[in-house]
Amino acid sequence: MGFKFQGVDFLHLDSYFSEDELLVRRTARDFVEDNLVPIIEECFRTERFPRQLVPVMGELGFFGANLEGYGCAGMSNVEYGLVMQELERGDSGFRSFVSVQSALVMYPIYTFGSDEQKNNWLPALATGEKLGCFGLTEPGFGSNPGGMTTTARKSGDGYILNGEKMWITSGTIADVAVIWAKVEDEGDKVRGFLVETDRHGFKADDIHGKWSLRASVTSGLSLQDVHVPECNLLPKSDGLKSPLMCLNQARYGIAWGAIGAAMSCYDCALQYSLLRKQFRDQPIASHQLVQQKLAWMINEITKAQLLVLQVGRLKDAGKVQHQHISMAKRNNVWMALECARLSRDILGANGVADDYPIMRHLMNLESVKTYEGTHDIHTLIIGQSVTGIDAF
Ligand SMILES: Cc1cc2nc3c(=O)[nH]c(=O)nc-3n(C[C@H](O)[C@H](O)[C@H](O)COP(=O)(O)OP(=O)(O)OC[C@H]3O[C@@H](n4cnc5c(N)ncnc54)[C@H](O)[C@@H]3O)c2cc1C
Repeated sequence: MGFKFQGVDFLHLDSYFSEDELLVRRTARDFVEDNLVPIIEECFRTERFPRQLVPVMGELGFFGANLEGYGCAGMSNVEYGLVMQELERGDSGFRSFVSVQSALVMYPIYTFGSDEQKNNWLPALATGEKLGCFGLTEPGFGSNPGGMTTTARKSGDGYILNGEKMWITSGTIADVAVIWAKVEDEGDKVRGFLVETDRHGFKADDIHGKWSLRASVTSGLSLQDVHVPECNLLPKSDGLKSPLMCLNQARYGIAWGAIGAAMSCYDCALQYSLLRKQFRDQPIASHQLVQQKLAWMINEITKAQLLVLQVGRLKDAGKVQHQHISMAKRNNVWMALECARLSRDILGANGVADDYPIMRHLMNLESVKTYEGTHDIHTLIIGQSVTGIDAF
């Protein structure tokens, strides 16, 4: 038994959104309600990515939504954030797929790519006809990607790539992988390469047994003497800061997305608490300790909404800094995870069943807390920003 989502806006923050922004949110909310909500529990149970929804999202302009041209929707960053919020209200794994396609594949091609690369890939990635993945993390290097051991060596008219990438979203369904490697001939500078996944020596295998993001594909990649032509190098990629710029885009979307997961949990727990009766035939919502949990959640969700709205406005004004995005990602994912735990508690035994979305959100958010910079790495980024001292 599920409840119909009622929306969460305690402080009338909708008055800060333009008509266009509200329209984008409504479109994404309807898409999720009509297409994702009815199937997501089955997808999560069976570890299935609902690929049939990809072309629909392409038509709605959800891929590379905040990019201009090449068939992209050219949304503002706030509009893009609202799309991420609604998608993650459906499922964090599903939102992860869209984040990767948009912020980690289309954005680097758009920002660091040649005209030929942009024309070749962006229109097809925008419709969802082609899918991409982003290979930064390695088995031995997660929080510290600068230690990566994947290499690119100049050879004739191109490069030879060797290495292993791990925990790569969409790895086995991707047509193109954005691979970050140290270029031996350039003093081990990190640069990005577009690797078509049907190239000889490229292999992707799914990671099974995840208890989180089960509706999203996660893979390991192996590159053994993969030859790519010179024109597959992202020409404007220039050191580790290039993949970090991509992560910044993705983290921004996650900061919005986490609010969606929190709203889903809170809304479900609120509706449940008004119906469920215990002691003297009273709804559990009438007990002070239950109200305390609901009050904590709406309080934190509202603060998170304000935080991300300001970060979004700064981003649209070209004034956002990476530490602002770190604060929003860190706070909002933590807040969402706490909301999921409190909501699960309010549902009692029903909270652990997939008749309700809460336990799925809870398990998903454990990954969201870890990827795109763990909670603690963002603590260190904020600490570095205010003290000027690097404590990594
Ligand atoms: C489902 C899923 C999908 C993913 N998708 C992608 C993807 O598409 N592409 C990609 O490249 N990667 C992806 N990742 C990888 C993700 O970005 C990494 O898991 C993340 O960067 C953390 O790295 P790690 O798991 O190796 O943890 P580690 O870096 O080993 O960290 C483990 C713990 O140590 C702590 N720690 C590490 N260093 C410090 C320090 N200096 N000070 C204090 N604490 C520290 C961390 O905070 C954490 O708590 C994905 C991960 C998951 C789970």
